Amino acid sequence: MQSKPQSVLNSISPHQDVPFFRYPHVFGEHREEYMAAMMRVLESGAFILQEDVRLFEEELATFLGCRHAIGVANATDALTIALLAMDIGQGDEVICPSHTFVASAAAIHWAGATPVFCEMGSDHLIDVQHAESLVTNKTRAIMPVQLNGRTADMDKIRDLAGRKNLEIVEDSSQALGSKFKGQCAGTCGRVGVFSFYPAKLIGCFGDGGAIVTSDDSLAANMRLLRDHGRGGHGGEVQRWGMNSRLDTLQAAVLRVKLRHYSKEMARRREIASIYDAGLRALKQVHLPPAPDSDLNHYDVFQNYEIQSDRRDELRDWLSAQGVKTIIQWAGKGVHQFSGLGIKATLPKTERFFERCLLLPMNSSVTNQEATYVVNLIRQFYCNT
Ligand SMILES: *Cc1c(COP(=O)(O)O)cnc(C)c1O
Repeated sequence: MQSKPQSVLNSISPHQDVPFFRYPHVFGEHREEYMAAMMRVLESGAFILQEDVRLFEEELATFLGCRHAIGVANATDALTIALLAMDIGQGDEVICPSHTFVASAAAIHWAGATPVFCEMGSDHLIDVQHAESLVTNKTRAIMPVQLNGRTADMDKIRDLAGRKNLEIVEDSSQALGSKFKGQCAGTCGRVGVFSFYPAKLIGCFGDGGAIVTSDDSLAANMRLLRDHGRGGHGGEVQRWGMNSRLDTLQAAVLRVKLRHYSKEMARRREIASIYDAGLRALKQVHLPPAPDSDLNHYDVFQNYEIQSDRRDELRDWLSAQGVKTIIQWAGKGVHQFSGLGIKATLPKTERFFERCLLLPMNSSVTNQEATYVVNLIRQFYCNT
């Protein structure tokens, strides 16, 4: 009993339900503004590629500090379109981390190229040294995935890409507003993508995505690709394209979201600080870097991902106390899904997936809820 910090045990509040994510909050938080924006679109009958798409694209490009943003149906299409626009396909290899959502690799696959899976580094992002060892004469691009709202060390990636003549395609689906040395995720290479899936940093009311670049001719090519290859006057078809447009209704909603986004980022960083202050001393858990602990990185905490001893036990226990957590992506790196027939062994990634856990992280989480989660985790390790 001596070793148990009484103050911690006493401070556990009565049972509370803390869901992992509150989907109704996606609409509920600024309901009146969304309703007004949607009514404007609906009543004017402006459904496909209308004013709000154009304005959202401009506002997003301004927010990120790049020349072009192109609204598309989702981030998976965004990646495929980016690769196709750079003529990356059949016979080409693209290096991506296995620690990512399957969509990163699926986009490479559907562009016709081969995804080559890379280890993760101690920052949980692509291991640039391992990536270098995978470069062959077929490698055309490297796809850093900016996970959990953190941007990889882009100096190292640009250095590798420069030496090996590779394109950089940033999967920034989880990193809107995240920065490395003051530069926004998605704008560090030639092309980057964002997802507006409801649970993402800015989530629309369905699927949505964007591609960003400062390369004018690439942008023009990607605009053709998202709309059946059509461009110019009269709908002239200039190349084979796809149908992957961002709905005007979703663009109108995203304009509202973007206006409130600096508050959202600040709130996520506050919650991360509460988790960090409460858990940093526990040796059984490994935390992401605290906000501002490394001034080269500005993290926006799409997720708060810890690694923990006895992860499954901790997760069950938190769940019994009402706190829902998630083991990302079925607990596997992409190369571990046997249905995809990938031959790779990536020990660091495989080990990570035995220990990782996402704590509730979104702007609906209150300070009191975050403190409850902290106290429960401390209690778990102190008592068992
Ligand atoms: C969500 C996500 C995607 C896919 O985004 P969609 O908009 O759902 O297609 C791709 N990569 C990563 C890392 C993601 O988190």
